[in-house]
Amino acid sequence: MCGSVPAEIGRGVTLKSKAELDIMRAAGRIVAEIHLEMADAVKPGMSTQALNKIAEEAIRKRKVKSPFLGYKPHRGMPPFPASLCTSVNDEVVHGIPSPKVVLKEGDIIGLDFAVIHEGYVADAAHTYAVGKVPKSLERMLRVGQQSLWEGILQMRPDRRLHDIGHAVQTYGERHNYSIVRDYMGHGVGKKMHEPPSVPNYGTAGTGMKLVPGMVLAIEPMLNQGVKETFVAKDGWTVKTADGKLSVHFEHTIAITEDGPEILTKL
Ligand code: MG
Repeated sequence: MCGSVPAEIGRGVTLKSKAELDIMRAAGRIVAEIHLEMADAVKPGMSTQALNKIAEEAIRKRKVKSPFLGYKPHRGMPPFPASLCTSVNDEVVHGIPSPKVVLKEGDIIGLDFAVIHEGYVADAAHTYAVGKVPKSLERMLRVGQQSLWEGILQMRPDRRLHDIGHAVQTYGERHNYSIVRDYMGHGVGKKMHEPPSVPNYGTAGTGMKLVPGMVLAIEPMLNQGVKETFVAKDGWTVKTADGKLSVHFEHTIAITEDGPEILTKL
């Protein structure tokens, strides 16, 4: 899930101890395993509510909790009613699972999922093709995935925060996709959204220094058309302003002396 309120960069950033990183590694592994279970279930005829059910059963089985269920970032917003965000086609992020949304061949669906394990959060998202999709859409999924890797490669102690967004933006725009500005990555730890906010765009060589012990969720959102978005009437679902498609990829990554360690990948 993405942060939407830019925090003042640098303030409130927590560095994780070795013991905390061990717990976050375990949390990340659980997230990765449950993502694989859900990926297997993405097929034509599947409802997004059924995908949420898979997520909730896996959460129960592993005795973890969902930081999404009941999440309410601001007063006046309805609490998020599920443990999984399911964002189909022109939905960018924060789609609410529903029995009425049934996947069709050729759709794309972003699954954003996180757990709280022993008090620590790990957060990851992937966008999948439903059955067979056009070549242009396969390319968009590849570029979205690669834009995340480009950002992750910057997560080294000799780099600065906006090197991450710069790398994501450069890669995505070079392939003619626009980069969503309204939502961004975030620090993650005891809380799902901790400082700093991590925009998916920016100027290289600027922002706070990256240091070992920082754990960030990097989550590029790439659009086929314009970068602008709006929130649907349900108060949560973010959609592209022009109705064109959007993809979303996210990992939780620790910065170590040796570079990035992806916690939400098996
Ligand atoms: Mg997130």
